[in-house]
Amino acid sequence: MGSMTGSVVVAGCEWLEYDYGPALVPQDRPASFTMWRYRDLLPLPDGPVRYPLPIGGTPLLPVPALRQEAGTPRLWVKDETRNPTTSNKDRATALVIEDGLRRGIDTITTASTGNAAVSTAFGAAAAGLRAVIFVSLECRPEKIAMMTQAGAWVFQVPAGYAAATDLSRDAARAFGWLDRNTGANPVTLEAKKTVAFEVWEQLGRVVPDVVVAPVGDGPTLVALDKGFDELVRCGLATRRPRLVGVQAEHCQPLVRAWQGRTAAPADLDPAATAADGIAVLRAAIGDAVLDAVRRDGGAMVAVSETALDDAVGVLARRAGLSAEPAGASALAGLGSAVGQGLVDRSETVVLLVTGRGKAAAGPPDQRRVAVVDGLDEVAQLLAGEETR
Ligand SMILES: *Cc1c(COP(=O)(O)O)cnc(C)c1O
Repeated sequence: MGSMTGSVVVAGCEWLEYDYGPALVPQDRPASFTMWRYRDLLPLPDGPVRYPLPIGGTPLLPVPALRQEAGTPRLWVKDETRNPTTSNKDRATALVIEDGLRRGIDTITTASTGNAAVSTAFGAAAAGLRAVIFVSLECRPEKIAMMTQAGAWVFQVPAGYAAATDLSRDAARAFGWLDRNTGANPVTLEAKKTVAFEVWEQLGRVVPDVVVAPVGDGPTLVALDKGFDELVRCGLATRRPRLVGVQAEHCQPLVRAWQGRTAAPADLDPAATAADGIAVLRAAIGDAVLDAVRRDGGAMVAVSETALDDAVGVLARRAGLSAEPAGASALAGLGSAVGQGLVDRSETVVLLVTGRGKAAAGPPDQRRVAVVDGLDEVAQLLAGEETR
């Protein structure tokens, strides 16, 4: 069982604990690796890993052109789009299913704003399990199409995401299914904390000054906090980074809570943001998010739809990365945090890019498209290009 010793409750959230020590993180420097590299810090009994898809070990990109554009010479992007279903949800899916395979459970359920369900559908398909998904009516049709393509059952719940979560959890209890719901299953945090271990290793066993991450239900950010905390407890690091959590202005319950302000109706409209992955009204582990941000001296920031849209464009043009709006929100959040004096441009900052764009967000930019017959027109058009 790795070196797991038990669990404690931190801000309403169950944290599994281990017999911490420096030997729990391997010392070698493999060219490529997966999340299972950290199995001594995961609730994983001995024996081979059966989950068949490669998870984690995603690149930490130096993004030279983006550094130049943003004026941030020590900026890094943790590219979580490089997981099997192109989002960071795959880490949690993998560990929950691995646990289920070992316990002989044949069905997994989750509620989801979209990506957790896509991840669960494909992960279950690969492992030979049945996936039963609960979503709100707002869930994007292209994401539902992916779920059914992988053979999942999809139940749409008109009362919204919170009600979908309640139904999924009731179903897990009633039918003995694997419960992948965030907040219900501490294993999801265990899986997502491996991002912190990877970032630390990829920076040369150095903790960054700041990590910026999107916040929906909360596990992405809380797991970062737990991962860095465990590096300290293992004696491998001496401090944690400041964590900056990002929400969309249209759905920012935790930003308002962090500011000590009451959220207005305009702050609580999940359908109004393109960042569906973080459009969560009632975060499953919101108290733990606020606790982590406070303890590490971090902050919560909200970003506009324009800033999200710009961030998607900048990641494409300056980092070569296709991100969905929620996936690009950390870049938008960095802009806001720098503007508010919460982060200095000279600091070592890691942005979590959590999800790939499932399709181009709109029609082609016609300023960049032309029909040509020969090189003359090509040269002429390129010469007239405004710098963008
Ligand atoms: C789920 C999701 C998030 C938010 O993660 P939480 O762990 O729920 O806070 C951010 N970005 C993308 C792309 C997601 O799918």
